[in-house]
Order: sequence, then C-alpha cells, then structure tokens
Amino acid sequence: MAFVSGLPYEVEVKVWTSIFVSTASFCPPARRKRRHWHVLDSRHGLVLFYTPKTRHDFLVCDLVTCKRWWINASPKCKDIMSADLDDHDEDENRTWNAMMFCAKEGCGHLDCHGLPFQVVFVGSYDKEGIILASVYSSETGEWSGTNSIAQPETIDKRGHSALVGNNVYFPCEERNRIVNYDMAEQELSVIDAPSEYQSDIVLMGAEDGMLLFTTVQNSKLCLLSMEAGPNRAEGWARSRVIELKPLLPLRALREDISVVGFAEGVGVIFLRTVAGLFKIELTAGRSKKVHEGTSFDKVMPYTRFYTGERGAAPIEKLHAHLFGATTV
Ligand SMILES: [Zn+2]
Repeated sequence: MAFVSGLPYEVEVKVWTSIFVSTASFCPPARRKRRHWHVLDSRHGLVLFYTPKTRHDFLVCDLVTCKRWWINASPKCKDIMSADLDDHDEDENRTWNAMMFCAKEGCGHLDCHGLPFQVVFVGSYDKEGIILASVYSSETGEWSGTNSIAQPETIDKRGHSALVGNNVYFPCEERNRIVNYDMAEQELSVIDAPSEYQSDIVLMGAEDGMLLFTTVQNSKLCLLSMEAGPNRAEGWARSRVIELKPLLPLRALREDISVVGFAEGVGVIFLRTVAGLFKIELTAGRSKKVHEGTSFDKVMPYTRFYTGERGAAPIEKLHAHLFGATTV
C-alpha cells in the first residue's frame, strides 16, 4: 500500500503544494511536487485538482496511467471561485468545494478506467444566504444548470467530501453542518451531524454506505457512522473508539492530534501529530509513521488497482496506491 501527501511547502508565501508519496514498490509517474495544485478529492482511481495558475480551473488525473482531463468551471460558478483558496486572500463570503466520482454504469469501482466521470461543485454566498450546486459530466463535456437553496453556510474549502448512492456531502465550516446534494432529485439541503462531539467532529468520507465522522479526544480516536436516509431521518448507527496510546509515540500524544485523511474501503486513517504523519490501520490495529511533516492540512489517499497494460494481470499482481496531499 502506498500513499502520498502534500506539504506546507513554502510557508512564507502560502503556496499550496500537492506532493505525491508512494509507500508501495510501484511508483506512479505523477509523483512530483506540484505547486498551486490544490487537491480537492480522490476517488475511483482518479484525483481532482483545482489548478488556478493554469489555463483551466480543474484537472482530473489518473496518477498511474497519467491520463489527464482539463475542465473549466461553469460560468455560473466562476464568481464564487474568484475567491482565491490561498490563506492570504480568503473571502469568507464566497466558499466552495468540489468532488468527483466514476460515472460508469454498473461499475464496481475496483478497476475504474477514468472515463466517464462526473464532478460535483458546491458553492456558497454566505452573506446572501445562497448555496448552489452544479455537476460536470465527462460524457457531455458540460456543466449542468445550477440548483440552489436559500441557506447561509460557509463551506469548508478543505473538507473531505463523501459519496453515498446518489448523494454527495460537503462539510461546512461549522463542523456539525453538512451540505447534501441529491443528484437524482437535483435537490440541495443542509443536515446536522449529531452534536455528541460538538465542533470537533469532522466528516472524513463514507464507509459501508454511511457517513463517517472522526474526532480525537483525550488520546482516543473516535469514529462515528451516520445514516443519511432519504427521509432525512439521520441517526448514528455505531461508533468505535480506538485508544491511540499504544499506537503513537509519547511525543505525538503530547500535543493536538488531527485526523487529516481517510482511505475508504481499506480502513486507513491518517493522523497529523507534532511527531509527524501517522497511518493507522483500523482493522489490524497497526500504526506507521509515513512522513516527517507536521503541518499537513489534508491527506488525500489515492487508491488504484494496477492491472498492467490491458487489465489482464491476475488479481494477486494488483497494487493499491494511496496518495495524499496537503495545503498550506
Ligand atoms: Zn468505476
């Protein structure tokens, strides 16, 4: 298994940099540092970047085959996006985030091949109290019209999104609020995560068809799953508590620990600590230091089953790769 992550690379000038780190023997070609590439999402063998210094707004990339698809934002969303994501130029009134997924019908997502995919954009004018959503399809090469809802929320620009069925979820800055876009009904709503852990709770993704939230409190990693039903009858299904003391060095436990990444389907959590970045394998109860960096904001695991030239390799020869990236 491998992962990559992005570092606070040039702190003085607040440059977002994505870097790629592999812990597997196979190293994908796209493993260099990329300044001004903001990693937004990774799913189904693809990574979505926001690339404001290029001629295009977004880049969808297969890191193994190096296939790339450049996308321009919907003209209706350009205004929201004009707020730079870099720290020194933030406009809290206009916030946005985006995610992507394989849109191939009937695909089991074990060996996706890039096309077709969709990108979901969600943006907010907080002061005006409007949230809007638009979906890009690689098949049409176009964005859908926008759907909107009157609701004042600030979208967490660096948050992790989640996909459950036809629903996508984006966290708000107010951590227990989640923007939900139902792609089938083309309907936006804002749901509450239960406030058991108050503002420390963070949406990390989806697991077994449920939203997964995490928090670290008193050297304990808490995982909480939430059912987000069609009737908005959300409820906690289960929670797990993992004691971090046996898994982390003493130094790491002395200061704040943040969950910065989650690899869906393989049960791996990434923790930022003052002693470096750690990977926790939830099922095996193992931990491993994977990077010396101590200021990762976001680790975006990347998983791709590499099957060789024509996908004919036997399953035991497949490799899984996880990559992450951080922003300053
Ligand atoms: Zn797929």
